Parts: sequence; structure tokens; C-alpha cells
Amino acid sequence: MNTDVIVIGGGLVGASTALALSRGGLSVVLVEAGLPQENNTEWDSRIYAITPGNVEFLRDLGVWNTMDASRINPIHAMQVWGDVSNSPLNFDAYSAGVAELGFILENRLMHAALWKALEHTQDLQILCPARCSALEFGKDTAHLTLEDGRNVSAKLIIAADGANSWVRKQAGVEVVAEPYHQLGVVANFDAEKPHGNIARQWFKDDGILAWLPLPGNRISMVWSAFEAQAKTLMELTPEQLCHTVAEAGHHSLGAMHLITPAAAFPLVLQRNQSMIAPRLAMVGDAAHQVHPLAGQGMNLGLRDVQMLVEVLLKTQRDVGDWAILRRYERSRKADVFAMGSVTDGLQKLFNNDDPMLGFLRNTGLRMVNHLPPVKRALMARALA
Ligand SMILES: Cc1cc2nc3c(=O)[nH]c(=O)nc-3n(C[C@H](O)[C@H](O)[C@H](O)COP(=O)(O)OP(=O)(O)OC[C@H]3O[C@@H](n4cnc5c(N)ncnc54)[C@H](O)[C@@H]3O)c2cc1C
Repeated sequence: MNTDVIVIGGGLVGASTALALSRGGLSVVLVEAGLPQENNTEWDSRIYAITPGNVEFLRDLGVWNTMDASRINPIHAMQVWGDVSNSPLNFDAYSAGVAELGFILENRLMHAALWKALEHTQDLQILCPARCSALEFGKDTAHLTLEDGRNVSAKLIIAADGANSWVRKQAGVEVVAEPYHQLGVVANFDAEKPHGNIARQWFKDDGILAWLPLPGNRISMVWSAFEAQAKTLMELTPEQLCHTVAEAGHHSLGAMHLITPAAAFPLVLQRNQSMIAPRLAMVGDAAHQVHPLAGQGMNLGLRDVQMLVEVLLKTQRDVGDWAILRRYERSRKADVFAMGSVTDGLQKLFNNDDPMLGFLRNTGLRMVNHLPPVKRALMARALA
């Protein structure tokens, strides 16, 4: 089989790439190793904060409006506390001149909406579940062989197969990975008091706790905790976890009731030596992995998709042409580098018991609150 593009990995980043490219007129084969996910009514503990810029992209793809709006919650304000000061750093949509700072939604909801759209797309072939066995990059084409013996050739391979990308390894692209020795512990709770559509975050010297507003009085927790503490959190009974989480957030939303079991994910800063190789472009976690403290990993991935789709659909040349791939990489470099550096810098500044850094970070937070231009610059990135 011959096609323009093979997208390997059908997570949120790969699925949106395949959808946008085939809508744009390219022939696409999407290869996903896992079974299609079921969208059931249980709450999913994998939650994303999606920026307004990416919501616009999903709206253009015709996916945003197909999702159940009663499962999506806007963020109208953010409050960020340092480890000393009692007064938070405040950001709000009204001051930023926008209707929302972002939206919180479930992984499963967005995944199901994207896959439903894929099934109704022409010139797109989905191979799922399908396991890759060999990948060769030739001068004019790349050849993929699946474990069941099927072969597909394409002008371009797009790796969207996540942080441990098999495709990246086949192309010999190196990565530098720095583990944070932290786990992101996630769980959803029903809180006693309304959250007021405010995302709350506490930077502590032993970790970073975020409460993201879900519909109703529900919240989603992401607690980036060092390994020993994360292990302890995972071993707590539901009642103990509720008490610990409520206490860590100074009981600001009253008592908590657990609605999804806790899950934990290792946190790593991963930088690729390159986002491209001959006949290959990488997107999403296959191209970079950042600390989740700013809720930006998926957002970075969706911005990769938007840029890659733009350069591929604009070109009159072969879509695997090296000059086109270079254009993609150049246009993504600054955003990817900045997000990796900012999140890494904040993690190291706050998750540290050096008293001098303690003084600096809390003074810094207070200063940002009183410097509207700095606040505006921070907001611009968070809204993209
Ligand atoms: C605790 C935590 C909280 C987070 N919160 C946020 C947030 O609020 N906002 C945000 O923007 N980001 C957030 N992130 C980051 C976000 O989860 C990732 O950036 C995002 O999931 C990456 O998506 P992806 O599609 O690139 O990769 P993945 O989600 O890993 O998808 C990869 C897909 O490829 C498939 N696959 C793998 N190998 C193969 C193969 N060989 N062949 C075929 N298919 C294959 C897999 O089955 C999977 O479907 C968070 C991360 C963590 C850990």
C-alpha cells in the first residue's frame, strides 16, 4: 500500500494530526498499537487543561462541538501560592481580556471525539490494533512493515507514539532525559464547596499540588510529588487520601470525596536532539516531554500538529522534502525550548529546600503580582 503520510500513534496528538492532514487532502494511514478506547460515563482521572488557542484548533477540526459540554469546565481564574506567602499570585480571564483562560476536559472524552471524526474521514485508513515490526527510511520513501506482514510505504512518517517512541529509536534520533524523581499523582474528587471555576496551585518545597475545576463541585488533582511521598499517597485509603489532599490545599474547598482511583505517572524532562530526520517528523511526547506543572505537554503537542499541518498542506513539493521538514522544526524550536526551560526552572526553584531560593521564589511571586507587563507575558504563553 502507498500513501502520502503514515502517522504512528493514535493518542490525542496522533489522531488530531491524521484528521487534520486527511481533511487537508493528503492520503493518510494511521497506525495505533492499542485497542480503541471505550468512552463510558465514569470520570477519567486523566484530565487536561487545554489552552484557548488549541480549543480553536479543535473547533476548526469540527471536534470541539461534538464533545459533551456538560463534561467540560472553563477556567476563569488561577491562583498560585508559594510556600511562604499567604497571598496568591492571581490571574483572571477578565484582566487578560478573554472569556476563559482555558478548559478542563477528560482524556477519554477528547479521544472518543477525535476517533469518531476519524472514522468518518475519507482518504484515511486506520490500522488498529496494529504492531510495527520494521521501519526503513529510503531516499524518496519510508517503508513500514507490521507484525502481521502488511507493508505500507509513504513519503513521510509522523511519529506520535509518545515519550518512549519506537519510531524515534528506529530513526536513531537521540534524546536527553532528566528524570525529576517525582510522580504525577492524579485523582478526581467531589469537593464540599464550589470551586468558582478557579484553578488552584500550591508550589511547595516537597512538590507541586494543582486542583483543576471539573463540572459541578468536582476537581481534578495533579500532585507532582517526590517518589517516596508519591508512593505514600498511592498507598493511602480513599478516606486518608481525601483528608491529606484537603489539608494540603488548606481546606479551601472543604471536605473531599474521592470519585476516581489515584494513578501515578513518572515525570521526566526529555529533550530530543532533533524533531525531524530524513522522511520523519516527530510530534507530541515523541518530540518532547515537559513537567506537567504548567499543564502544557498536550498543548505543546497540539501546537506541533498545527504547525506541521500548516507547512505540509501549504507545500507544492513532496511532503517528505527535507526543506519542508526543516521549516517545521525551525518554527517549533523556540516554543518547545521555552516550555521545557520554564517548567524545569520553576520545578527546581520551588522543589528545593535552599533558604536563599525560598526567599527568591516568594519575593518573585509577590513581584509578578504587582508587575502587569510580566503577568501579561506569562498569560500570553498560557493562552496560546
Ligand atoms: C500527571 C500528568 C498531567 C498532565 N496534565 C496535562 C495538562 O493538564 N495539559 C497538557 O497539555 N498536558 C498535560 N500532560 C502531558 C500530556 O499527558 C502529554 O503531553 C500527552 O498525553 C502526550 O500525548 P501524545 O499523543 O503525544 O502521546 P501519548 O498520549 O503517549 O500517545 C501515544 C499513542 O501512541 C500509541 N503507540 C505507542 N507506541 C506505538 C507503536 N509502536 N505503534 C503504534 N502505536 C503506538 C499508544 O498506544 C498511544 O495511543 C500531563 C502529563 C502528566 C504525566
